[in-house]
Amino acid sequence: MEDIFSYWPWLLLLLPVAYLLGWLKGISFKKAESSNSSNSLSSDYFKGLNYLLSDQQERALPVFLHLVQVDNETIDTHLALATIYRRSGNYDKAIEVHQNLIAKPSLSAKYRSKALLELGRDYLAAGLFDRAEGLFNDVIKNGFYEQQARQYMLDIYQQEKEWSEAVKVTRSLIQNGDSTLRSLIAQFYCEISDQYFKKGNIKQAEVAAKDALSYDSDCIRAIIVRVQNAVALRKFKDAIKFIKRIEQTDSRYFPVILPYCIESYRELGKLNELIDYLKSVESHHANLSLMQGIVNLLVEVKGEEAALIYIQKQLVLRPNINGLASFIELMNKQDNFAENSHFQKLQKAVEHIRQKNDLYQCNKCGYTSGTLNWQCPSCLVWGEIKPLIGDMNAKN
Ligand SMILES: [Zn+2]
Repeated sequence: MEDIFSYWPWLLLLLPVAYLLGWLKGISFKKAESSNSSNSLSSDYFKGLNYLLSDQQERALPVFLHLVQVDNETIDTHLALATIYRRSGNYDKAIEVHQNLIAKPSLSAKYRSKALLELGRDYLAAGLFDRAEGLFNDVIKNGFYEQQARQYMLDIYQQEKEWSEAVKVTRSLIQNGDSTLRSLIAQFYCEISDQYFKKGNIKQAEVAAKDALSYDSDCIRAIIVRVQNAVALRKFKDAIKFIKRIEQTDSRYFPVILPYCIESYRELGKLNELIDYLKSVESHHANLSLMQGIVNLLVEVKGEEAALIYIQKQLVLRPNINGLASFIELMNKQDNFAENSHFQKLQKAVEHIRQKNDLYQCNKCGYTSGTLNWQCPSCLVWGEIKPLIGDMNAKN
């Protein structure tokens, strides 16, 4: 009689077939389960859904609010309804839907967090920052959607200009993996530094500026702040060190620190050295403010003749109205023309059209302004406003 073990190679071949049959059975079981669950959705739910799809949100709201059972399959529809309300400015209704969701005992912890997060967004959109902040804190404690909650808290702190809080929440976001925020946190530290500087606490202003650079070593604003702090502390050699760093990082900003630059070199008795240095900066990046600074220094240190020679060269290299105005002004001084001479009239006319201030423009939205804002007042993006028209290379 043949032993059963003599059939074992056949049994081995049947194993994959058995596995396949089991898998197919599993699928059909899942299908049946899902169809049962669909059947369990109440007719009210579909009624509400119909209203929503036919753009009748007003009629959908009471239907959804009175649904007893809210589960993982229907919650997305509730959330969508609330989002429609929030986007159309109907904050009260969005809040009502979200509060109604949170009160449902059948909701999973994750979805409860989602509803809390969305409720916080309703309050944020309605301008009720304190309530929104409390809800986002609850979301963080619950352990779901924490990063999103922190992002919205960051919006609040920026709008309220609470820079220390903004630093704390941004630090958490960075620690949890968002390294794109390093340049943003540097801007917040610069804001803190500015506040200390205005109060006369230069040492704390320095600490904050160093913190900014520890997150973003190329933060041009933080380097400018360090120049300003060094001059205030009469550490002129340090100031010059940071001035040279600005030139290397982004020389377009050089005119912003030109007054500090002149003060530092003057205090160290090195104005001649400064003239040579500014000329070398200008050879890399010509700028109307820089050119005017050099003219003034040449007049002071080497006399009007030297200034005239310099400006004639500049006018050949880069013809510009400011250079022409300075040239005519110097010629009038030198030759002492009479009050109503043609040169005097020419000087007045050119003076009228010369560009007096630097202009700044946002790289993101194109907003232009006569003052340097670190956060664009139009698109609210940080660090994208760059010096523009004083910049002769950019103009070309
Ligand atoms: Zn902008």
